[in-house]
Amino acid sequence: PLLVNPPAGLSSVIRKKLMGYVGFANLPNQVHRKSVRKGFQFTAMVVGESGLGKSTLINTLFNTTLYPAKEPQPPSAEKPKTVAIESIGADIEENGVRLHLTVVDTPGFGDFVNNDDSWKPIVEDIESRFDSYLEQENRVNRTKVVDNRVHACLYFLQPTGHSLKQIDVEFMRRLHTKVNLIPVIAKADTMTDEELAAFKQRILSDIEHHNIHIFQAPTYENEDEETIAEAEEIASKIPFAVVGSDKVVNTPDGRQVRGRVYPWGVVEVDNEEHCDFVKLRQMLVRTYMEELREYTNDVLYENWRTEKLLGMGVAQDSSVFKEINPAARLQEERVMHEAKLAKMEAEMKMVFQQKVQEKESKLKQSEEELYARHKDMKEALEKQRLDLEEKKRKLESGRPITPEKNSTRRKGFLPALLQFLSS
Ligand code: GDP
Repeated sequence: PLLVNPPAGLSSVIRKKLMGYVGFANLPNQVHRKSVRKGFQFTAMVVGESGLGKSTLINTLFNTTLYPAKEPQPPSAEKPKTVAIESIGADIEENGVRLHLTVVDTPGFGDFVNNDDSWKPIVEDIESRFDSYLEQENRVNRTKVVDNRVHACLYFLQPTGHSLKQIDVEFMRRLHTKVNLIPVIAKADTMTDEELAAFKQRILSDIEHHNIHIFQAPTYENEDEETIAEAEEIASKIPFAVVGSDKVVNTPDGRQVRGRVYPWGVVEVDNEEHCDFVKLRQMLVRTYMEELREYTNDVLYENWRTEKLLGMGVAQDSSVFKEINPAARLQEERVMHEAKLAKMEAEMKMVFQQKVQEKESKLKQSEEELYARHKDMKEALEKQRLDLEEKKRKLESGRPITPEKNSTRRKGFLPALLQFLSS
């Protein structure tokens, strides 16, 4: 057995080296097999004004024609007055792994004259999905829970080159606590590199200014350098400047690529020098899809559920909640610490007051004693003075001084001398 210095606080952990192959190293493979059999569910939402290339980008991301090309609407066609919510589901498979992908589209967002409440139907849709999940969790039979919650929301920003618009800020502020926000700059091929860099900066500072939380690729302690570098590289591209195209085109040097052909050349979707599509796909699909699902479940859904249940007067199972929500745990610890401090302060105040009272009453008592003693002494002196005066008077008048009968008073030196002389 090999004893390794245990970390502080885990004194009972003893690390042992195995003598032979036991088999639990195969656990990841077991999990892998099981999840491949079960398949995965992922729901992505796309939000942004019509014509920004949402459908094209989804088709490009999953390399499938999830969205058929839209028929152009005649000008006379009746336009909807509110934001609609449309879901398209597809089972896609890659190397034997099945993914049930749902794309939630929000046609109409930002397309009206007044877009003040455009975010409302979207928040309602996200919350109703949380509701449906909560309802399934509370069922007696929970073996077949379908996860329809939105795991990521691609928010399409118009390639204006200015800063965020009011509708963008409003939407992100309303949604950032309910969904993983991934802002993307649509049709990035319409801007130059410098324009894009400046636009990204402005967007990021607006996002920071409004305290909007956007999804960041997480890094954990003890993670290898490669993973950290990858996360940092992805983070450096946010908001992703994307170009979508589901068409394969020929480049001037004879390659076949997904891209957009212009008179001056070809913009390649999968070329990292041309746009951030590859990094977006990494964030959404290749590297962080599971993180997006986990964050939705552990933080976004959990916070919403706690709020909802507390609102209904149901106390939360705090231990479980705290374990998976470090922010809540910190908050609780802070509240407890503050309560402890307040209690200590109150106790100290009480003790102090008691001590002051004791001291005051002692002082008062000794003051009274002093006063009484002073009074006694004064009286005795006064009496002595009167006696002396009496004797003086008698002496002056020539009459003998008769000693006082039964006098219990202590005589002074002068009266004693007078008495001696007269006897
Ligand atoms: P949606 O209404 O947001 O779903 O937008 P669509 O995907 O239907 O695209 C609207 C138009 O924009 C189509 O003509 C697309 O070919 C075009 N489009 C889509 N993506 C891009 C892009 O990245 N760059 C450019 N320049 N055009 C694009």
